[in-house]
Amino acid sequence: MLVQQSSQLKEEIMRLKKEKDVVILAHNYQIPDVQDVADFTGDSLGLSRQAATVPQKTILFCGVNFMAETAAIISPEKKVLIPDLEAGCSLSDSITLDELKNWKMQHPEAIAVGYVNTTAEIKSELDYCCTSSNAVNVVNTIPKDKEILFLPDMFLGSYVAKMTGRKNIHIWAGECHVHAGITPEDVIKKLDSMNDTELVIHPECGCTTPFMYDVADGSYDEKKVSILSTEGMLKHVSKSKSKNFVVATETGILYKMRKDNPDKTFVAASEKAECQYMKMITLEKVYDALINEKHIVTVPKEIADKARLAINRMLAIS
Ligand code: SF4
Repeated sequence: MLVQQSSQLKEEIMRLKKEKDVVILAHNYQIPDVQDVADFTGDSLGLSRQAATVPQKTILFCGVNFMAETAAIISPEKKVLIPDLEAGCSLSDSITLDELKNWKMQHPEAIAVGYVNTTAEIKSELDYCCTSSNAVNVVNTIPKDKEILFLPDMFLGSYVAKMTGRKNIHIWAGECHVHAGITPEDVIKKLDSMNDTELVIHPECGCTTPFMYDVADGSYDEKKVSILSTEGMLKHVSKSKSKNFVVATETGILYKMRKDNPDKTFVAASEKAECQYMKMITLEKVYDALINEKHIVTVPKEIADKARLAINRMLAIS
């Protein structure tokens, strides 16, 4: 899109959202133009919290479907819109309702803990929901003698098992194709090409497992390593004294990192780590959603009521 066209569209979106009393929430992986028109940017947990507290009656959610569903569940009195209904998620698709019900039947005493990256139907079968920011803390609140079913991300699950030291945690073998595609080789190549560099990794990444031991030691090859959620990464890189960072997550996060820290250098661990679902949301679709009040996201009441219990437990734990 031409720069002039894009800035006109942004102005029109800013005007419309005020006129229609709409709040725009955008995930950290959204394209820069969409992040620019948002009232709040953040990760799943941060945006869920915003959805629960914003005064506006309409939320325009720039992210993927499960996020907009979560907002609709938390705020049933509000209208939740998503600019493109096709914005899905390979991770949330990695477990079906029947698969979860069967798994629970095999472990009838277990507590089901599910990542927020799941459909509303799956959430309605969970005891606890969690995000990458609070997964470790959520699991730590569950009595040590209770078996846990953790789903659907296997890398986050292994990270949680390692950090909590629990042996009685069963992990679903799901993954996000974007994060799973970031390999240890990608990371090491980037780290070796730069001096005085810190590494920040999202726990969904395929490179998480081998680096967990370096995290326990505090460094890899004398470089500092941290495993963090996207919000955790944003806070960490701003506070850190380091000037250079290799960032292992979806590349959309780099926009905010660079904007907030113009004196620092941020390099993607893998330039291929782009989520095509997140990138489906464009300025044109945001404009269209505002003008035509679409697409309305609804969750059947009986599913929403059950799912809300698990989500509220997630929101209560930082
Ligand atoms: S980056 Fe992965 S987990 Fe996030 S929305 Fe895309 S497919 Fe889903």
